[in-house]
Amino acid sequence: MTAALHDMGVAEMSRALQAGQVSSLEITQHLLTRVADFEHLGAFLARDAQLSLAQARDADARRARGPVHALTGVPIAHKDIFVTRELASTAGSKMLAGYASPFDATVVARLGGGADGQPGAGMVLLGKLNCDEFAMGSANENSAFGATKNPWDLQRVPGGSSGGSAAAVAARLVPAATGTDTGGSIRQPASFSGVTGIKPTYGVCSRYGMVAFASSLDQAGPLARSAEDCALLLSAMSGFDPRDATSAERPPQDFHAQMLQPREQASPGRPLQGLRIGLPREFFPQALATDVHDAVRAALAELERLGATLVDVSLPRTELSIPVYYIIAPAEASSNLSRFDGVKFGHRAKDYDDLRSMYERTRAEGFGAEVKRRIMIGTYVLSHGYYDAYYLQAQKLRRMIADDFQACFRQCDLIAGPVAPTVAWTLGAQQDDPVKAYLADIFTLPASLAGLPGMSVPAGLGAGGMPVGLQLIGNYFGEGPLLQAAHAFQQATDFHRRAPAGVSGA
Ligand code: GLN
Repeated sequence: MTAALHDMGVAEMSRALQAGQVSSLEITQHLLTRVADFEHLGAFLARDAQLSLAQARDADARRARGPVHALTGVPIAHKDIFVTRELASTAGSKMLAGYASPFDATVVARLGGGADGQPGAGMVLLGKLNCDEFAMGSANENSAFGATKNPWDLQRVPGGSSGGSAAAVAARLVPAATGTDTGGSIRQPASFSGVTGIKPTYGVCSRYGMVAFASSLDQAGPLARSAEDCALLLSAMSGFDPRDATSAERPPQDFHAQMLQPREQASPGRPLQGLRIGLPREFFPQALATDVHDAVRAALAELERLGATLVDVSLPRTELSIPVYYIIAPAEASSNLSRFDGVKFGHRAKDYDDLRSMYERTRAEGFGAEVKRRIMIGTYVLSHGYYDAYYLQAQKLRRMIADDFQACFRQCDLIAGPVAPTVAWTLGAQQDDPVKAYLADIFTLPASLAGLPGMSVPAGLGAGGMPVGLQLIGNYFGEGPLLQAAHAFQQATDFHRRAPAGVSGA
């Protein structure tokens, strides 16, 4: 074998396992050593080498016995927002430090050992990944267990809230990771860390066993090296789940096949012929950093060369998506997080006088500053007298933002733009000013509020040699065309293959 084991993506690993060129045990041993070597990134929270090795041996044994799922034996690590039976689940919070879940999240079960008598894909669990506390943040600096560093520049953030996932994939500690995206938490860290990520349509992946932040927005998805790898993972982790009332009742999807299905008008060298890509003018404001602007424009020119047509569209309420999201998400969070009261599970204060002081001290000790800020904002906008002025208004605007997208999709098939207004910032740079970080969510929030699928695709390097992501947004359940465009782009470019210095090779 020519490439180092850690340079292999999911599809490549799957093929090598299938061909008997390598065993899951060899891959897993190699990656476990790497994870230990890259401890300084702060990407991993929980891991258990014996558990991973046992799963790898089991995967090899099953593969030797007969046909298995394509992903069997390929390692995966999960954002620590997914609960796992075998490893502690914290959601990046002191509130849940050491919490042992009695069950696996549906996404974890489907990718791993299965549940309810249904087989899983048989991927090997390498560990749990750092994230912002309860997925609230854009830099992974809100984790109670320390910040994660960006493998491209250790002085910078990897993005958030799925920052551990993005950093682990970028540093080639694991070929793929799960993430969750409420307002951009798969797309933005993917962009900041130079990996590929997809947030599917709301309802495509089950939220069962995903620690809830804002239930009407939360959605799981994969982060990996390529659109092809994401397609393989998404096919395995998605699908209707009777345990999630908002899960979409659709037949199982083969996103990989959809990705490869040639377009009707395709011709050699022009796989995207006939595809109309809308560029919302609000996604290219004056304030957009030049390096991001240039990389995104160059990527769009490449998509044009591949046959796509660029059309100007408008999402007039783009700016309003910030206040709308930062009312709705905290409102839902304040309700979801009421369960952490020191009674049912999680942290409980040691000293208290009565029930009230037990609640107060438990929550004061267990939650970090950003989580408290959101609980207070959420409680405020839902309170009698302010509900109509804030929460109700935000809900009305949310509907209008979703309608704006439908108006665009009458003129185009996909929407493109930047993922974030800048490349990854320096650690600590936005710690004192949360609103600055909120404003940087401007390009990811609209699709989240509308429940639309969105991707981040590596599109080049900007200032300081930091990665820039191209965002592609599809219509509802349009993951196929989205992955297809990203795949065509990645067949023609090599941005997704670039690795941070000192990470690739032997
Ligand atoms: N940055 C956004 C926030 O802090 C989005 C987070 C997310 O998608 N989980 O809420």
